[in-house]
Amino acid sequence: MDATGSVHASLLAMDTHIDIPWPTGPDFFSAGPRHVDLPKLREGGIGAAFLAAYVPQGKRDATGHAAAWERATGMLGVIGTLGRDGAHLCRSSGDIRAARAAGQIAIVPAVENGYAVGDQLGRLAQLRAMGATYLTITHNGHNALADSAIPRTDLGDGSAEHGGLSALGREAVALLNRVGMLADIAHTSKATMLQTAALSKSPVVATHSCIRALCDHPRNLDDEQLDAMRDCGGVVQITAVPSFLKPGGTAETVTLADFCDHVDYVVKRIGIRHVGISSDFDGGGGFVGWRHIGESANVTEALLARGYDQAAVALLWGGNFLRCMEQAEALAA
Ligand SMILES: [Zn+2]
Repeated sequence: MDATGSVHASLLAMDTHIDIPWPTGPDFFSAGPRHVDLPKLREGGIGAAFLAAYVPQGKRDATGHAAAWERATGMLGVIGTLGRDGAHLCRSSGDIRAARAAGQIAIVPAVENGYAVGDQLGRLAQLRAMGATYLTITHNGHNALADSAIPRTDLGDGSAEHGGLSALGREAVALLNRVGMLADIAHTSKATMLQTAALSKSPVVATHSCIRALCDHPRNLDDEQLDAMRDCGGVVQITAVPSFLKPGGTAETVTLADFCDHVDYVVKRIGIRHVGISSDFDGGGGFVGWRHIGESANVTEALLARGYDQAAVALLWGGNFLRCMEQAEALAA
């Protein structure tokens, strides 16, 4: 094994945002055309894969909310079946560490879009009971909880509706704290993000976002938001989406150097404890050098070449995010 290989193998590498196909569900156990499956996770030396039950924003009426709930719980149900043949379903940081110790790949459920719960906050505890470790508060489009970074004019969205979190959204953040789920501010508006960071007792995370100063995209975080992430003890998981990494970037033009530039920027501004790595594979992620999860050791190689040592790379690849999970779990009632 070369130097990169031995460093990569020593890490608990976590990819904090991966999408799965729906309604078909993933064909997870054999190598296929998608960016992520179990053979590729193994090939890529990934210790924990966070799979998102993603709910696209729809109409905010009883029918829309019922369909959203059905989809979120249906997806969590399917994710819940993937813990076999060398993969293990993990609902907590402790589960992830135990899976690692047993030589198994952790499959970690998450929910993308607070629309999943509609306006029924009691459902947050149900999502947590199904294993969800974080909730992305919005997707594209405002929901009952908060404003999104990208309004859905086709659904009647104005630029801002709640001015950040709604009253219900503020309650949701408190409940997320109580059940030990992380609040994910990827996809939210800046006001939502700043209010969530100020309100949440546990660290806030951006599970798949990049840096506004390097690429002016509404999904990316500006300097004021980075400072708020530092102040709440949170972590920004730099993600492999080409259009977030470089203006006009595509899977063919973006490289690992661009990705590492975003990591460097956060490290320099707010410190290494507040940065991590995610792919958004099968949801838009992937570029030259990190085209699928099997190529994940290339990220380690690029970070080592930038001068990060083994301990720093371990923090980036999962140590920081795991620490946020531990803090959220410790706070849970
Ligand atoms: Zn997303």
